[in-house]
Amino acid sequence: MSGPLSHGRCLCGQVRYSFTGAPLLTAVCHCRHCQRQGASAFSVVVAVPADSFTQQGETKVFADTGDSGQAVARHFCPTCGSPIASIADALPGLVLIKAGTLDDFDRHVPVMEVYCDSRVPWLPTMPDAQQFPGSNIGVE
Ligand SMILES: [Zn+2]
Ligand SMILES: [Zn+2]
Repeated sequence: MSGPLSHGRCLCGQVRYSFTGAPLLTAVCHCRHCQRQGASAFSVVVAVPADSFTQQGETKVFADTGDSGQAVARHFCPTCGSPIASIADALPGLVLIKAGTLDDFDRHVPVMEVYCDSRVPWLPTMPDAQQFPGSNIGVE
């Protein structure tokens, strides 16, 4: 792989990761699972090819299920609890990085919002993103 190297880590630093090249896309997910896991109104995910992603430090995995009925492996730090990434069977070959753990996450601008059906009512629509009521690409 080539291109710039991006880095991220959990809150405590036990889990670190990097990926090469540009992400495929950045999306905001308003689904209830992301709201609960992240204890926030939505999650921001950066999708990268699995073969560009390298992780140091063991994550724990919550075996979740997406709308499709397919498995979603939610990886998180066993010490500090930071969500790190989701790997969805519906999206083979992709790692959905939880963007807040990226060192430079502010430069990843979401191009779409998914699961807008469960958007909190006080949160306005992002003007430069495309909105989908459900999963669209199956982002979890
Ligand atoms: Zn940690
Ligand atoms: Zn979600």
